[in-house]
Amino acid sequence: MSAERRLFFALSLPAKLQKQVIKWRADHFPAETGRPVAAANLHITLAFLGEISELKAEALTRVAGRIQAKKFSLTLDDIGHWPGSGVVWIGTKRAPNALLQLASVLRSHAARNGCHQSTLPFHPHVTLYRNATRPVAIPPATPEWMLEATEFSLYESLYEKGRTRYRCLQTWPLADAPAT
Ligand code: ATP
Ligand code: MG
Repeated sequence: MSAERRLFFALSLPAKLQKQVIKWRADHFPAETGRPVAAANLHITLAFLGEISELKAEALTRVAGRIQAKKFSLTLDDIGHWPGSGVVWIGTKRAPNALLQLASVLRSHAARNGCHQSTLPFHPHVTLYRNATRPVAIPPATPEWMLEATEFSLYESLYEKGRTRYRCLQTWPLADAPAT
């Protein structure tokens, strides 16, 4: 039996924001848009690791614990549809540097540990729908929600009974930004 697990680093959404996103999505998109992501699964991926061994998972867990990254907030003020991957998403027009740095250091550690990293630029986003392969009418405005990131986590992606579920394996706090 393979001991490999499908892992990724991500930011989670607070429960209140999950509910707001779900309600806004239902109010602004027709049901046939695609496969809606479950509230508990809404997240921003920082680095995808793929199916990896326990040894690699342990190594990446150790380096994650040594990362010195700062807290940040971002505004969800952007929205789009990638027809190729069938993803409808919300994101931010101005990704904070602390977010870009955190993702970049996680992705370079992942690459160094043999986890293939996409060559596409990092585009932080929350996936709202998958399998959205037909044209989608994008709402003209986003609700401008704020996301305060105070921690990041390592997740395992599990596929059970026809559904994808994420299990949080470990969470690390982000440091207070220096007073200005
Ligand atoms: P499902 O595959 O059931 O539609 P999912 O895509 O959320 O659900 P995973 O495929 O395990 O579940 O992906 C977990 C996270 O990693 C998601 O944010 C997904 O977009 C991202 N991800 C998956 N595959 C890749 C990849 N090859 N490169 C970059 N990110 C990926
Ligand atoms: Mg997937």
